[in-house]
Amino acid sequence: KKVGMARLVLKFGGTSVADLARIRTVAEIVTQVWQEGHELAVVLSAMAGETNRLVTLARDAAPLYDVREYDTIVSTGEQVTVGLLAIILQSQGVPARSWLGWQLPLRTNLAHGNASIVEIDRESIEARFASERQVAVVAGFQGLASDGRITTLGRGGSDTSAVALAAALRAERCDIYTDVDGIYTTDPRIVPRARKLDAISHEEMLELASLGAKVLQTRSVSLAMRYGVPLRVVSTFDPQGPGTRVVPEEEIVEEAPVSGVAFARNEAKITLNAVPDRPGVAAAIFERLSKAAINIDMIVQTVSKADATTEMAFTCARSDLARALAEVESLRASVAFGQIDSDDHLAKVSIVGIGMRSNSGVASRMFGVLADKGINIQVITTSEIKVSVLIAEEYLELAVRALHSAFDLDEPVEL
Ligand code: ASP
Ligand code: MG
Repeated sequence: KKVGMARLVLKFGGTSVADLARIRTVAEIVTQVWQEGHELAVVLSAMAGETNRLVTLARDAAPLYDVREYDTIVSTGEQVTVGLLAIILQSQGVPARSWLGWQLPLRTNLAHGNASIVEIDRESIEARFASERQVAVVAGFQGLASDGRITTLGRGGSDTSAVALAAALRAERCDIYTDVDGIYTTDPRIVPRARKLDAISHEEMLELASLGAKVLQTRSVSLAMRYGVPLRVVSTFDPQGPGTRVVPEEEIVEEAPVSGVAFARNEAKITLNAVPDRPGVAAAIFERLSKAAINIDMIVQTVSKADATTEMAFTCARSDLARALAEVESLRASVAFGQIDSDDHLAKVSIVGIGMRSNSGVASRMFGVLADKGINIQVITTSEIKVSVLIAEEYLELAVRALHSAFDLDEPVEL
């Protein structure tokens, strides 16, 4: 390896490859980085909107489709973009070839439609790096299962393809080129004074991604954390911008108690009253919901009352509420609980920061800020680096703004 030469993975999302003109912009970025002497693998998404179009086609063909055929259909979007980029790079004199998931191969488990990566064969790509400095243009989102068929990695999965490839190739870094210029302290549409972060830890990014920040697929962040792959989120339309680095926690110098405020609308809560307080009841309820593939988020149970009953409440996505209510109702025969209440106008607001580990009183401060605004907290959950509260949805924006200023996240106003 020459001095200063690195091995990098560059990933471009759907808006970055939305049409030929944009793919040419991508080719310019790739060419420039290649000319600096780096070894490059480039992972692409399908053109913006294309995967949605393909999903709809599959659904319209037959509502109960064979998920292996679904993968055959929806994986095609990436096949088009990688071929196009390879052609354009070649026409500019940059050696390049496209790789589909099965050609590498990138092996996954058998979970068609939402497969996990098991192993990536890096030899073929490395051989081309060595022999002809060839750029590997790799189709994101797709892999090969042991049934010999194509799989896809779940929506947004090309982030995960890129990070996994970076880990397999032992790349120095994985650059995620997208349509925003980095990770923000919160959604700038809600808080115009949201600040772009220079750096954030993998762990915080993981919380933010799972709490609804849509820039990176959650699984890609856990992979990056597990393998210590540094990421850089940068805009395709401002490729020289600093972006946001997502790095191991040790590399974060300044640990503010709170790095970001995340939120999720469209939450619903179900409350079961007079639930018999005996072993096996919670198991029965949540097993039933999990069998119905309903994701439960927050759960609270009150301490046992004098009559040996408790009250149990839990949250799920609003779109799952009707199904969840039906499932719970169907348990009545075996678990004799009382009335069931539900509320479907709720939202979850969370503060996230690794600095919470060393700063006490962050949660109480959050509750104080909400109290000052007269916002009632319905459910609270915490982890080492996160505090989440469930509130009425109408107060969501007020809560996010108040917390954002209270924890000093607002961009300073220039005088
Ligand atoms: N094209 C796929 C999707 O839209 C994968 C990706 O873009 O990350 O979900
Ligand atoms: Mg994406």
